[in-house]
Amino acid sequence: MNLDFDLTPEQVQTRETVKRFAQKEIAPHVLEYNREGCLPLDIVAKMKEMGLIGGVIPPEYGGAGIDHVSWVISIEEISRVCSSLAVVVGGPSSLIGQGILRFGTEQQKQKYLATMARGESMGAAGITEPNTGTDVANIQTTAVRKGDEYILNGSKMFITNGGICDWAIVFATMDKSLRHKGITAFIIERGMPGFSSRSIAGKLAWQPLDLGELIFEDCRVPRENLVGEEMRGFKIVMSCLDMGRLFVAARALGLAQGCLDASLNYSKERTVFGQPIASYQLIQKMIADMAVGVEMGRLLLYQVARLRDKGAQRTTKYSSMAKLFNTELAMKAATDAVQIHGAYGFTSEYHVERYFREAKGLQIVEGTTQIHTILQAAYALGLRSDD
Ligand SMILES: Cc1cc2nc3c(=O)[nH]c(=O)nc-3n(C[C@H](O)[C@H](O)[C@H](O)COP(=O)(O)OP(=O)(O)OC[C@H]3O[C@@H](n4cnc5c(N)ncnc54)[C@H](O)[C@@H]3O)c2cc1C
Repeated sequence: MNLDFDLTPEQVQTRETVKRFAQKEIAPHVLEYNREGCLPLDIVAKMKEMGLIGGVIPPEYGGAGIDHVSWVISIEEISRVCSSLAVVVGGPSSLIGQGILRFGTEQQKQKYLATMARGESMGAAGITEPNTGTDVANIQTTAVRKGDEYILNGSKMFITNGGICDWAIVFATMDKSLRHKGITAFIIERGMPGFSSRSIAGKLAWQPLDLGELIFEDCRVPRENLVGEEMRGFKIVMSCLDMGRLFVAARALGLAQGCLDASLNYSKERTVFGQPIASYQLIQKMIADMAVGVEMGRLLLYQVARLRDKGAQRTTKYSSMAKLFNTELAMKAATDAVQIHGAYGFTSEYHVERYFREAKGLQIVEGTTQIHTILQAAYALGLRSDD
């Protein structure tokens, strides 16, 4: 008997369909395209056909309109095989699209969100800067209103899709002295005067994905590209992050499950001192930790997704908790999976070498392990509340 998580028949079907797709269409090619550092556009096209890009975005805005539980299951199953391609499923509904979905105008939703959800445009989200990441309120990129335009100056660093995106939601300050209260959200588009970007070369993992810098030099943004209201952008950042952290939690859970899958197979096949290594208790301890961890991580993640399906829009505490738990789980699972594989696990012929590098990235993106630990302590001590 398995924990069934009270999934609906549709959610069970989603898992089966996405799992089969990942095994059949992604797994045979994943080592090769990761080694080459290319996004497999033919696979992305199939994901688009399956509606995987549209996620929770409603059909009227080009999305698939699936529930949040189905969405995290889809991310989990893709990430179990390739956490780079999981970004194609998770990004549009979360960090990139959530702000426009909740706070954008009808025109912005049709022009940017809907085209991204249909796989026709590539978006990005720019919060981090060269001199500020964790301390979001310290954003230094400035926005000044001038007639019917805003003039942006500054840059955004380490932005997924940054070097190749068609547009991005970016956050700038209209008054640095107000810290988070001065933050305002805008959509910038390639071709706007004063906007340029570059891809960042050389990184630990996720070679198929672009990581870039967005540069604003007297960048002129029309007033219609303001998202929400002036000086109300911090709320938009947080709503993007609440979903973004859920996405990263699902991505991490899938990666941890991938580590368990690989470790089970390898430990039964590899013989040392005349016995499969799975028979040794020190190996079993690592496998038991992974098996318990993925069940716990899944319980937490699905409950947070369910909260959102019940209508909760602010899930900061539990999105952070799920992100923290699952990314720490992924790092430990990947470390142990490499250990179980011995020298083979050290080579790029085996998936666990890649999982190990990717797990480190998961501990950094959408808030580091440290900031989520600090947040959880603050909630526990009653210093912070979502109410
Ligand atoms: C692959 C990748 C993709 C990314 N994609 C995006 C994206 O699409 N959009 C975007 O906006 N950003 C993106 N980022 C940036 C990411 O969100 C930031 O890297 C992250 O928020 C941390 O910021 P930082 O790197 O500036 O670290 P810093 O804030 O400089 O922190 C450095 C170290 O200090 C620690 N630290 C900070 N404050 C404290 C404290 N109070 N107590 C203890 N320790 C502390 C941190 O945990 C960290 O270990 C991406 C990053 C990566 C690696």
